[in-house]
Amino acid sequence: MKSVAIIGAGITGLTAAFYLRRKGIPVTVYEAGSRVGGVIQSIRKGGYLAECGPNTLLETSPKITQFIRDAGLESRRLDSDPGAGARYVVRYRRPIAMPGSPLGFFATELFSFKAKLAVLREPFVPRRRDGREESVADFVKRRLNQEFLDQAIDALVAGVYAGDPYKLSVQQALPRLAELETRYGSLIKGQIFGAGERKRRGEIAKDRAPKFSFDEGLQVLPDTLAAQLGDCVKLETIVAKLRQTSDGWWLNLLTKNGATSAEHSALIYCGTAHKLAELQTTLTRPSATLSHQIGEGLGEGTSLNLTAFSEIRYPPVASVVLGFRREDVAHPCQGFGMLIPKVEGFNILGTIFSSSLFPNRAPAGHLTLTSYVGGERQPELALLPAEKLVELTCADLRVLLGVRGQPTFVHCVVYPRAIPQYNLGYGRYRGRLTEIENRVPGLLFAGHYRDGVSLGDSILSGCNIVGRVESFLTAK
Ligand SMILES: Cc1cc2nc3c(=O)[nH]c(=O)nc-3n(C[C@H](O)[C@H](O)[C@H](O)COP(=O)(O)OP(=O)(O)OC[C@H]3O[C@@H](n4cnc5c(N)ncnc54)[C@H](O)[C@@H]3O)c2cc1C
Repeated sequence: MKSVAIIGAGITGLTAAFYLRRKGIPVTVYEAGSRVGGVIQSIRKGGYLAECGPNTLLETSPKITQFIRDAGLESRRLDSDPGAGARYVVRYRRPIAMPGSPLGFFATELFSFKAKLAVLREPFVPRRRDGREESVADFVKRRLNQEFLDQAIDALVAGVYAGDPYKLSVQQALPRLAELETRYGSLIKGQIFGAGERKRRGEIAKDRAPKFSFDEGLQVLPDTLAAQLGDCVKLETIVAKLRQTSDGWWLNLLTKNGATSAEHSALIYCGTAHKLAELQTTLTRPSATLSHQIGEGLGEGTSLNLTAFSEIRYPPVASVVLGFRREDVAHPCQGFGMLIPKVEGFNILGTIFSSSLFPNRAPAGHLTLTSYVGGERQPELALLPAEKLVELTCADLRVLLGVRGQPTFVHCVVYPRAIPQYNLGYGRYRGRLTEIENRVPGLLFAGHYRDGVSLGDSILSGCNIVGRVESFLTAK
């Protein structure tokens, strides 16, 4: 049996490979870069642990718990400090703790009396019935008000997507929020009545899900999976071209030693949307017919048109990881971190209090703060030189957290294309992927550009693709 090719050794590709192998299905994972993990990047230096990409994994589903167990990583798992639950949002140029209860909500200075009234009114706002797609901003303004959008939701979407609420589609980017309105007619009613249903399904809402990492950071996860996969993982190997054959797929591979090729029974694309657009794909089965967007009446030798995926925006984001002496930071920094709405006018999108979340992220008497710069809000800032990034981050931290003096540790990483924006119209890309899968047997898609942008979503995407590959191979 020829192996299944997996393109991309990010967490999606490695998860899929891990479970396929456990089912006795041979796999080969091709990775363009020189390391596994994709955007996951944990670096240990001078007593600090810098987590440049994702910082935490959310345990939203029992499948994630089982996955960590299956990978043999339970003993290395680090749960976030239960005392670090507080989240701050910046208002009046200082971090204010988000209320943790309905009573706290009515007492907080984070929202005005008018915004609090908007929440009381929300269950009586009629649900929208025309089924039209709506931006996150329009949705929030319609159901709540402008202040809620500016002070809370803008900060939230900066934290998750580094995105713009006026461009993000509520149905695509925050589907659970949209679903609360559709099913319960109200976000508040949905929160109350939907809780039981989520419990029955074994799911936990993202804002309440336990957060965890590993002793040496999230990089432990891809490194462990890659070690178990052994030489099935081919690093520094770019999959440049695909051609359908009579019984599978032929791949053109670019390695540091030159071009080579390989044949596989099926393939799963687990890369990024912008790299998918560059993949030259030829179909040789005359029976394949696809809609005009991807090539009508496809016959032998027809190329599959994937260029539309280059339209998906991935704005740049820089992570600026800084260490400070404890006595040089006035704020206690106890909690998850702070989010900063655009209206507050700072350079950074937010800061994670990394050493408050997990032990061993900073040497004794020091703390680690991880800030993000850029995104859709100010993409040009993410591309500034490292010294400038540190300078503008320190300027914000001085005002917001009372930081003094110079950092004792600095590590900056720029992701020129960080997170895909599930903007208005994103459904057409997902639809196109489903159409290709239905019409081109043995070509499957998984990962952050399709099944949700969080690390947990990518793991679930990698888990879920396995059954579909199995069905395809069985039918074959
Ligand atoms: C700065 C940042 C912070 C984040 N923070 C969090 C967080 O705190 N919590 C959270 O849950 N999520 C977070 N995320 C999101 C989460 O990390 C990602 O969604 C997830 O890791 C994506 O995994 P993936 O495998 O789908 O894609 P990727 O990690 O992008 O991996 C794709 C891989 O495919 C390879 N590839 C592409 N094309 C080819 C080709 N043709 N041939 C060979 N290889 C190819 C690439 O080199 C890459 O290694 C963050 C993301 C970023 C960028």
